[in-house]
Amino acid sequence: MIDTLTAHTLAFKEEKHRLFFPMHDFSRRRRDRGHRARIWACEPYSNLSHPQSTRAVPLSQTRSGETGVGCLAQLGEFMSKTKCAICGSSSTRPYFQVKNSPMLQKVLYETAELARAAPTVTADFWGCENCLFLFNPGFVEPSYSGEYNNDQSLSPTYRDHLRAVVAFLTDALHKPATVLEIGCGNGLVLSMLHNQGYEVQGYDPAHAAGLRYVERGPWRPSEKTYDAVLFRHTLEGISGFEHLLVDVSQKLKPDGLVYVEFTNSRNIVERGSTVTLYHECAQYFSEGALSLFFSKLGMFMIGMRQFFGGDITAMIMKRSRMHPPQGASFEKLAGYSNVHIWGVSGRTIHFLTNYADKLERVRFGVDLDPRKQGKYVPFTGQKILSPVDCVSSRPDAVIVLNEYYAQEIAALFPYPVAILTAKDFYGGE
Ligand SMILES: [Zn+2]
Repeated sequence: MIDTLTAHTLAFKEEKHRLFFPMHDFSRRRRDRGHRARIWACEPYSNLSHPQSTRAVPLSQTRSGETGVGCLAQLGEFMSKTKCAICGSSSTRPYFQVKNSPMLQKVLYETAELARAAPTVTADFWGCENCLFLFNPGFVEPSYSGEYNNDQSLSPTYRDHLRAVVAFLTDALHKPATVLEIGCGNGLVLSMLHNQGYEVQGYDPAHAAGLRYVERGPWRPSEKTYDAVLFRHTLEGISGFEHLLVDVSQKLKPDGLVYVEFTNSRNIVERGSTVTLYHECAQYFSEGALSLFFSKLGMFMIGMRQFFGGDITAMIMKRSRMHPPQGASFEKLAGYSNVHIWGVSGRTIHFLTNYADKLERVRFGVDLDPRKQGKYVPFTGQKILSPVDCVSSRPDAVIVLNEYYAQEIAALFPYPVAILTAKDFYGGE
């Protein structure tokens, strides 16, 4: 008769050496089985929808012949690896097991024999119910080489995508600017930016295009700083992404940007669509997970685009910090006696009421909305005129706090009138 530990060891072998979650309690195998059944049985997840047509399976691979003590140590390591690296939550669950996953998904082989001998692993992805971060606790970082081919640029649709990426980025990045791309592949986006006059530098161990501004190898921090750092489908494959992003954030110029393009884990778990999961990626981010991580670096999202129906998301992050509230000056009002304020909405009422003791010469409010006309501003009591009545009452100055409307309003007056915007009171360019 075999003892419990031996039975357990045999069970591991039967299950191809996968490490079961509750294996710490060797003396109560029957209870373990119940626990294991609960974990393996795909309980409905609160946020993580069930993947299509497969069961959720826990991790992970263990070495054959592991002893109980070794397994306990491994269990401790495993438990820490299954905690969410983004939000710290322990509400993580097995999500999907990818079988026969090539170490590098995008390396093809010259012969069938070589291809059949390609190294593969079983990749077990876990998901965080809190931030929808998907991650493979057993990830082993592969070595990239020039054989790796992630180029899809022969497709006109993909080229359109790259143009959209560059347009999105350049809207936020004014020249002159230095751009670093980590994991730039063959450097297509960098070359498009280079053609537009940006100073570019790329790093990629699999670079095979021979661009003079791309170095074949990993990026290492140096004295050089950047206006923008790009990660296009790169962060997913880096097991130490946290440390890399800390390093990058320290090499950004004061107004520097980080552009991240990624396969969106929210989209994966919402649809239960697992076809984009493979071993090459250690993790998959949701918008929320990335935002949360970047906020720890003092960086916040200033723009986002969804591509390919939400499969791919791009976010631009920028460093931000609290500044003291702007002080207001009212010197520009000196010399005017009949002042009106145009557009009686939130900011106008804040301005009038907060600075009521400085704005006594503001006699009327003005608004296009007939439902506001004839009524009075709370606390300060200015009557609200129609635009026609405003023009008839011949103000010598009109305050238009939102400068984007200033030109449209100035054009309504057939006589000279001073238009004062927020910049006249708060300063600014
Ligand atoms: Zn999380």
